[in-house]
Amino acid sequence: METKLINGKAIAKIIRQEIANEVDLFIQNGHVAPHLSAVIVGDDAASQVYVRNKGRACESVGMTHNTIQLDKDISSKELISVIQSLNNDMGVSGILVQLPLPNTIDVSEILSTIDINKDVDGLSNNSLGALLKGEPHFVPATPLGIRELLIRSDIIIPGKHVVVVGRSMLVGKPISALLSMKSKIGDATVTLAHSATLDLKKITKLADILIIAAGIPNLIDGSMIKDGAVVVDVGINRIDDNSEKGYKLVGDVDLDSIVSIASLATPVPGGVGPMTIAMVVSNTLKAAKTLQSV
Ligand code: ADP
Repeated sequence: METKLINGKAIAKIIRQEIANEVDLFIQNGHVAPHLSAVIVGDDAASQVYVRNKGRACESVGMTHNTIQLDKDISSKELISVIQSLNNDMGVSGILVQLPLPNTIDVSEILSTIDINKDVDGLSNNSLGALLKGEPHFVPATPLGIRELLIRSDIIIPGKHVVVVGRSMLVGKPISALLSMKSKIGDATVTLAHSATLDLKKITKLADILIIAAGIPNLIDGSMIKDGAVVVDVGINRIDDNSEKGYKLVGDVDLDSIVSIASLATPVPGGVGPMTIAMVVSNTLKAAKTLQSV
């Protein structure tokens, strides 16, 4: 079988164009451009890059954004009051608190402070609870992006056996809930594997759609997948090399070894990553529409 690569970058570009058209219309109809406020605590280099990319994506669709950079020693109380003022600011459509937060801070408490109508990352207890109940409001961007990639690649989800590897709050758990939801774009049978799974290969071999978010390079190779499987690689791992940057990005899948076994596969980079960013922007538009009650 010839494996086709899913071009996440190209699909994300199409989505951004669709969103840009919607934003245009939104503004023409007399509304204020959607606005994303990002909060960063401390100076984690990767966080700065992620937030910068999300900001650029907002600009590319005609949305506005700002970043609030806070000192790593800020107290929970002060951080909560920053979020509360964003909640109360009618000019702010979406609020994003970039993770990780310093380990002195209770992440759940902080995320739960975000107004559920502005929680564009969908990571508060309320948002995740609503997803688990099958009544999602905001779904976290990466799971949303994965589902969108599948739909736009003409993969039928209902009835499929989806195996998810990794049980993180950011990816594994929410994508399991999303794809097993009673819905025409859900209704999958989902198996959730993780670090305590015995005989991972036996499980992954059953997958029609295999989604891997474990953060381990080469965790999955060709011997672990079924003929014709769809393989979605969510891993983003830095591997040191001799390039100018000093590293390269690889996923959790040994792509070379699955080629000609999988029917479809996402590359890293250029697969799920760009979709995540597009979905943050999409959620921000949705937030603006709710807030300005369209
Ligand atoms: P992310 O933020 O990409 O979701 P995390 O690092 O938070 O990733 O989570 C990694 C997940 O991968 C954990 O749920 C863990 O159980 C899972 N995992 C780690 N190692 C293995 C392994 N060898 N087999 C299966 N799952 C694994």
